[in-house]
Amino acid sequence: MPRRIQNWKRAITYTANSLERVTSVAEIQAIVKDTGRYPSPVRAKGSHHSTTRCVVAEGGTVIDMTGMNAILKIDRQNRTITMQAGVLLVDAAKALEKEGLQFYVNIELGNLTVGAGACSGTKDASYFDGEEGGWEYGQVHSYCVGLKAVGRDGEIVEATEKDVPELMTAMRASMGMLGLIFEVTYRVKPIKAMAVRHAVYPVHEFARDLEGLIANEQSIMLYLFPFLDKVVVEIRYDMPGPPEPGSWVWKIRNYTWKTLWPGTAHLLGLILPRIIRFAVIDVLNRLTVLIIGSVLKDRNSSPADQIIRYSETAGFASYTFSIWAFPRESYAETILKYFAFCKQYYKDNHYRCDMLNVGYHIAEDRSSLFSYTRRGPALTLDPVATGLPGWEGFLYAYNDFCSRNDGRPLFNQTGSLSPLQARKAFGPEIDAFLVHRRRMDPDDRFYTPHFRALFESV
Ligand SMILES: Cc1cc2nc3c(=O)[nH]c(=O)nc-3n(C[C@H](O)[C@H](O)[C@H](O)COP(=O)(O)OP(=O)(O)OC[C@H]3O[C@@H](n4cnc5c(N)ncnc54)[C@H](O)[C@@H]3O)c2cc1C
Repeated sequence: MPRRIQNWKRAITYTANSLERVTSVAEIQAIVKDTGRYPSPVRAKGSHHSTTRCVVAEGGTVIDMTGMNAILKIDRQNRTITMQAGVLLVDAAKALEKEGLQFYVNIELGNLTVGAGACSGTKDASYFDGEEGGWEYGQVHSYCVGLKAVGRDGEIVEATEKDVPELMTAMRASMGMLGLIFEVTYRVKPIKAMAVRHAVYPVHEFARDLEGLIANEQSIMLYLFPFLDKVVVEIRYDMPGPPEPGSWVWKIRNYTWKTLWPGTAHLLGLILPRIIRFAVIDVLNRLTVLIIGSVLKDRNSSPADQIIRYSETAGFASYTFSIWAFPRESYAETILKYFAFCKQYYKDNHYRCDMLNVGYHIAEDRSSLFSYTRRGPALTLDPVATGLPGWEGFLYAYNDFCSRNDGRPLFNQTGSLSPLQARKAFGPEIDAFLVHRRRMDPDDRFYTPHFRALFESV
């Protein structure tokens, strides 16, 4: 039966021929093999938190993976966790915490399914761990060391980092185009207590001190306030001793980010005229800077506490965002240009983001063909907004700004990207990916018009 399906934020809608909820590999195989009953493209659905048309399967068959949600094995000795693809990151992180283990990358979105995490773009500020050899990766898929997928004829495709590292770099970039992943194994590490503190900078000082901040070898995430010319740096690092789960600092941060800010910004957007609305938002931004900078600190929180469990679909208090990553060596200059760009765009178009922006420092990483740090470490500039009118137009100008400033997008998180922008950022990598794709899926069982246009129309 045709099904109207939306992404989490309900900004993207498509009609699939059917939505299939599966609980076994055999069911996925039966669907993939039966081309008459289940038209192409056949696409796996995680929590549909993606903000781009990577999720769209117009007229095709959508397989909801969230029913395959068993944690199969936690191997303390080899430091791995093996799970079905529909397990949520937050559930796996809590299970690891009980075993004295943790993920390397603890992104804020707890609803990320670990199958999607293995094959699509993600970001969290890279952590520094001297015992682990220095900077860690900031992308979830980089710690996926093995996976099993259903291939285009219903066959089982197995790949491990040890046996087929080159195929793994393609699988980590595949977003369902090389097969439907049903099982994943991630490398994990012994849990450590995590300290967090915040430092407030005028943006010019931040730009001047950036290299020094990175030289401190601590994880840095940024809260950006273009209209206050301020940056708040969230600094995280290991502490000796066991973590104490349930940190109130993360509870406050998570509630403010998930509910309080988007709910308030949305309400203001509905009831206030523009000039008053943004004057109020500036006051709230100042208050936020003050509170984060002076109150939010902890010495021994658990890494899992920073992960947020969102509602299944977006409600009134919800936000959307985009992201591009920029070479570290020119980021000091790029962030100043970005703040100027936001102000100019507001002047010209009367639109600005109604939430604070964020950014992440992420280590060089060649684990995936579409890793945005393949050519070196990067920092990101992520606008965040409630998605009220004006956001879509802003995205086009933002994409243009980022592409001109040597940015790299994420195909599942950077909306409204043009084929030219995709090719400028990842030309050789797209060509390498297409070689794998044509070999593994010559009949386009998993390929969609969206990806064909993005990869092959220029
Ligand atoms: C409120 C919010 C907060 C967010 N916070 C963060 C954050 O802090 N850090 C971050 O990195 N990202 C964040 N994201 C983005 C999110 O992590 C990515 O978009 C991610 O891909 C979503 O995973 P999902 O399980 O919802 O997958 P979906 O969006 O359903 O799917 C993503 C892509 O992967 C494919 N896919 C899914 N499962 C499989 C499978 N089993 N086999 C093969 N292909 C599959 C799909 O076909 C699709 O192309 C956030 C998004 C929202 C809306």
